[in-house]
Amino acid sequence: MERILFLAHTDSENALPATAREVLRGAVDLAGSLEAELSVGLFGREVEAAADTISACGAVRFLGVAGDDFGVSRYSTDVAAGEALVGAANPTIIIAPSTSRVARSLPGTAQRVDGRVDTRITGLSVEGRELRVQRWYYRQRMVATQTRAQRPWFLVVESGVFEPWKGEGGAAEIEEVSVPLTDVHRRTEVLGLEEAAADTQTIRPDAEVLFVAGAGWTKKQQDGQAHAKEAESLIRRFLDASRASLGSSKSLVDQSGEGQDVIPFMTHLNQVGQTGATPRHPKGLSTCCHGEEPHVVGWRFITERRAVNLDPNCGWARGKADVLYVADAFEVMEKVNALLEAKATPIQR
Ligand SMILES: Cc1cc2nc3c(=O)[nH]c(=O)nc-3n(C[C@H](O)[C@H](O)[C@H](O)COP(=O)(O)OP(=O)(O)OC[C@H]3O[C@@H](n4cnc5c(N)ncnc54)[C@H](O)[C@@H]3O)c2cc1C
Repeated sequence: MERILFLAHTDSENALPATAREVLRGAVDLAGSLEAELSVGLFGREVEAAADTISACGAVRFLGVAGDDFGVSRYSTDVAAGEALVGAANPTIIIAPSTSRVARSLPGTAQRVDGRVDTRITGLSVEGRELRVQRWYYRQRMVATQTRAQRPWFLVVESGVFEPWKGEGGAAEIEEVSVPLTDVHRRTEVLGLEEAAADTQTIRPDAEVLFVAGAGWTKKQQDGQAHAKEAESLIRRFLDASRASLGSSKSLVDQSGEGQDVIPFMTHLNQVGQTGATPRHPKGLSTCCHGEEPHVVGWRFITERRAVNLDPNCGWARGKADVLYVADAFEVMEKVNALLEAKATPIQR
């Protein structure tokens, strides 16, 4: 019989990150399908409060590694915490959420306990008594369903795959697991977090909406002139009011390299597509972007797709969007911004 360990860390508020609740749902369902025993292992500065919120998840054991040393994201201590929790729970399958902290440290834990790790998992299923995992390859173009004989098997699961686990809170009985640390573990000192200023951070993985800007924003418009400054203002106002994540077509981000007048807060990191990112959001709105296949392939995980384009024969019109508005994006976004700004509270304004 498989023994499953759900492994996660608490955040700076000593709570579980949103992704952890989603992946816990997957672990709980999997334990049911495999008739496996489920344990929970948490590490962080404090873990009790977080464990209490998931005390009804059906886990037979709650294991915790807590202390200031584990309150920060540091490879050496995170790997050691994972190793200690795996040692205490003795699982055959370890399921963890794909936070940057887990993604960085869990492969190291797997190595230390002679396990195998698979990352970027986007699905868990059971066939017969066998666990199958889903994973995308070749820039999200090919999907594979695979399994492994090696145990322990570590799985780092992506966000947006499962609905978050919900249930009554309670009092979880935590078994404290000690981790012997030396000065070597503490050699890297974490001084703090430096975040990008709120107005320059345009990539927001947790946003409800992905807003994509294409090269049309900088092209000559009906009056024969380009209106890059106006485009910049419209896009920025929309991002401020909606808190959407900003994506771009390759053509638009490439223009900065060619010295053209472009949107200054756009970089190659915003590029969506075959040679860009494949973000996950419930909704997407494309503007002034043609919707060519190398771009649209990056929309694979956008559930509801809408586009604004002057051209009724653009790529989006050919089955790539759920709704295409054949309209001038400058006019549409001016109207959308006015509506959003009218709704905003004085503080948001
Ligand atoms: C190997 C390879 C990999 C690639 N990888 C990527 C990738 O990862 N990501 C990517 O994006 N592309 C990629 N491309 C490029 C891709 O094929 C397209 O060239 C690119 O996506 C086009 O960008 P665009 O739609 O913004 O620009 P354009 O094709 O120039 O389209 C601009 C659009 O704006 C519209 N428009 C103009 N003004 C307005 C207005 N006022 N209102 C509404 N609409 C307006 C026009 O009708 C037009 O449809 C790749 C290409 C290759 C060959």
